[in-house]
Amino acid sequence: LISKLPNVGTTIFTTMSQLAAETGALNLSQGFPDFDGPDALREAVARHVMEGHNQYAPMTGLPALREQVALKVSSLYGLQVSAEAEVTITPGATQAIFCAIHAVIRPGDEVIVFDPCYDSYEPAVELAGGVCVHQALSLPDFAIDWQMLADAITPRTRMIVLNTPHNPSGALIEMADLDRLAVLIRDRDIYLLSDEVYEHLVFDGREHASVLRHDELYQRAFVISSFGKTYHVTGWKTGYVVAPAALSSELRKVHQYVSFTSVTPLQWALADFMAAHPEHLAELPAFYQAKRDLFCDLLANSRFRFTRAAGTYFQLTDYSAIRPDLDDVAMAKWLTREHGVASIPISVFYQTPPAESRLVRFCFAKREETLRQAAERLCAI
Ligand code: PMP
Ligand code: GLN
Repeated sequence: LISKLPNVGTTIFTTMSQLAAETGALNLSQGFPDFDGPDALREAVARHVMEGHNQYAPMTGLPALREQVALKVSSLYGLQVSAEAEVTITPGATQAIFCAIHAVIRPGDEVIVFDPCYDSYEPAVELAGGVCVHQALSLPDFAIDWQMLADAITPRTRMIVLNTPHNPSGALIEMADLDRLAVLIRDRDIYLLSDEVYEHLVFDGREHASVLRHDELYQRAFVISSFGKTYHVTGWKTGYVVAPAALSSELRKVHQYVSFTSVTPLQWALADFMAAHPEHLAELPAFYQAKRDLFCDLLANSRFRFTRAAGTYFQLTDYSAIRPDLDDVAMAKWLTREHGVASIPISVFYQTPPAESRLVRFCFAKREETLRQAAERLCAI
């Protein structure tokens, strides 16, 4: 067998979560909460299952849920989108990413991604016959190097992948960045994939620079989000894509043969909950900022060095004052085995990792007692 994905192995998320389970370590590696989504949301699923909402939902998603997404987009980002033509519900953001890439990428096309880069874009591009062109974000702020980006664009560039708030760094793009990007790709045949799964996890009063706020960029964009992150239910694997009608139509051609539709009772429950609890979204930034601050305040007494994450539920930390001799993969394993806290090394998200990178990522979507216990162990090193 000649593998179609020779460079793909087990993901770092599986590796580290497994090691955490084997060793009994606190799992701050793979990003998921150790608490549950809202009671009313979970009760709504049970109700819809019992009420008989168990057969296929429409291919593009339950109309009531698409309507809620359109309402949210209008109230948060000031963009009027058609729930019918521009919103598609998908089984997770991961499936949405795969479908968006396959909707437009042809053999030989180039897709620009920024390193450190979330792991699900490149395999999808490769399966479509495309090639990822990796651009390193500049350190220490994980910002786009505009000159490098301009130089990387070729006549073969067909897509640019943005991810803000950014996993794994927690950095944010600003509206001014979107303006620069719009100028750079104006009059070129380039699509955008904007991975905004952490759109509500933005701290210190800053604003999420959604592509949905930018009329010009939206015309060529697939904007992707995940109910899993927003409602603390990552295992539900339910997400959505907002894209102009022509792009949504192409995306749906792929989606209808990858999965056809998404799990019905989950969509009913999400639609009910979004309608009844609009305050949930407004409360999220403060909810996660308090967790970030608790974790960071406690970690201030450790030898880890960090700048507080501007967004996401991930905190990057520099461990060079502790074990400069270990690369980050070895460090993450050592921390798990010897100190009982699992994290994610950053080098795996690079095509060419920066020399001497000494950064690991901790997920702070955890209960207060988990964060206190983890910090206690990390401060003792
Ligand atoms: N994009 C990013 C940046 C993520 O961190 C995640 C989380 N796993 C996803 C996409 C996938 O989201 P989902 O679980 O809804 O597929
Ligand atoms: N997005 C999650 C993270 O960054 C991982 C999801 C997965 O395991 N694929 O930790």
